[in-house]
Amino acid sequence: MTHRVTLIPGDGIGPELAAATTRALEATGVSFDWDVQHAGAAILESEGTPLPQRVLESLRANRVGLKGPITTPVGTGFRSVNVALRQELDLYANVRPAKTYAGVPRIAHDVDLLLVRENTEDLYAGIEFERGSAATKAFRALALEHAGVTFPEDAGLSLKPISVAGTRRIVRYAFELARTRGRRRVTAVHKANIMKHTDGLFLAVAREVAAGYADIEFEDVIVDNLCMQLVQRPQQYDVLVLPNLYGDIVSDLCAGLVGGLGVAPGANLGETVALFEPVHGSAPSFQGSGLMNPTAMILSGVLMLRQLGETVAADRLEAALSRVLHEGRHVTRDLLPADELTRAVGTEAMVDAVIAALPRAGS
Ligand code: NAD
Repeated sequence: MTHRVTLIPGDGIGPELAAATTRALEATGVSFDWDVQHAGAAILESEGTPLPQRVLESLRANRVGLKGPITTPVGTGFRSVNVALRQELDLYANVRPAKTYAGVPRIAHDVDLLLVRENTEDLYAGIEFERGSAATKAFRALALEHAGVTFPEDAGLSLKPISVAGTRRIVRYAFELARTRGRRRVTAVHKANIMKHTDGLFLAVAREVAAGYADIEFEDVIVDNLCMQLVQRPQQYDVLVLPNLYGDIVSDLCAGLVGGLGVAPGANLGETVALFEPVHGSAPSFQGSGLMNPTAMILSGVLMLRQLGETVAADRLEAALSRVLHEGRHVTRDLLPADELTRAVGTEAMVDAVIAALPRAGS
């Protein structure tokens, strides 16, 4: 069977990693019909928007997509295409596994975490008001009238909506994932001691949902404590479920523990569409270098193969990549100690090694 998959190469280092990854995926013998869709700054000039409707339509039709990173201008310019995609397609669950692979230089050993991040609400909802605007002034008056508090006149505002329905579905997703992956425990992460009506709600709803999963342990932890615990003893965690902002930050921390952004894959999942992408960004200064690590995007491709039901191909590709990482002979520079950089290979040579290491089907 041929899988029609939307392929968004992205920009910066995205296109070279996407090309390397599709080559590795095709080498498993699985057949793909790539529906290539471009988005981002280059498209803004020609099509008037960085995220044309055709991209969304392609993903809705194909239901599965693989995406390279897309640059977001900082502070000004268009809003993140990555965030817009998740919101437009209601890709409410962002799953970011953090797993140690032998051979990858890392801070922590034996980590095998599944981080489940809520992907549509919280401070990423994009409800923002400029300092000095009429809306910000109105909110200032409201805060005084309803809460008896105020904030500086020269402050900008970002709102943090966290809903019962949004929390319920992400926590349920985390428990269902724990069940299907044979995991023992789900940990809800929050700052409910400070933000009672948002994080407090998240925690209360998480507890309610947890009561329906007697077979899986549940605990909660305050986000700052979690960060300290993750650095000292990450092995104590199994599945983490977090609101959007903490999920974004903590997943980079987890990536750092297991070897850095170069090895951190991700999946954005909704009721009907699944979009797979590395956690890392477009690293524009490395565009065209041919030196970047394809592991995160290949592992995102492995997650995609599992979603497509191609479990054997997923296992083979992950095994081949693990072997290349373990042997450490054909790896990119970020995977080597500082005094061994001269023997680093480029993206394409690393993918060649992965393809050569693919175990025979059935073996
Ligand atoms: P980044 O992840 O692009 O790069 C940070 C650093 O991580 C790089 O300088 C590099 O040293 C390292 N790195 C990243 N990917 C690597 C790889 N494959 N191999 C080896 N090293 C790698 O983060 P940034 O510089 O903060 O962001 C650059 C742009 O990417 C921004 O415009 C940002 O908005 C965007 N971004 C996009 C996504 C996405 O598309 N989902 C995610 C994060 C950031």
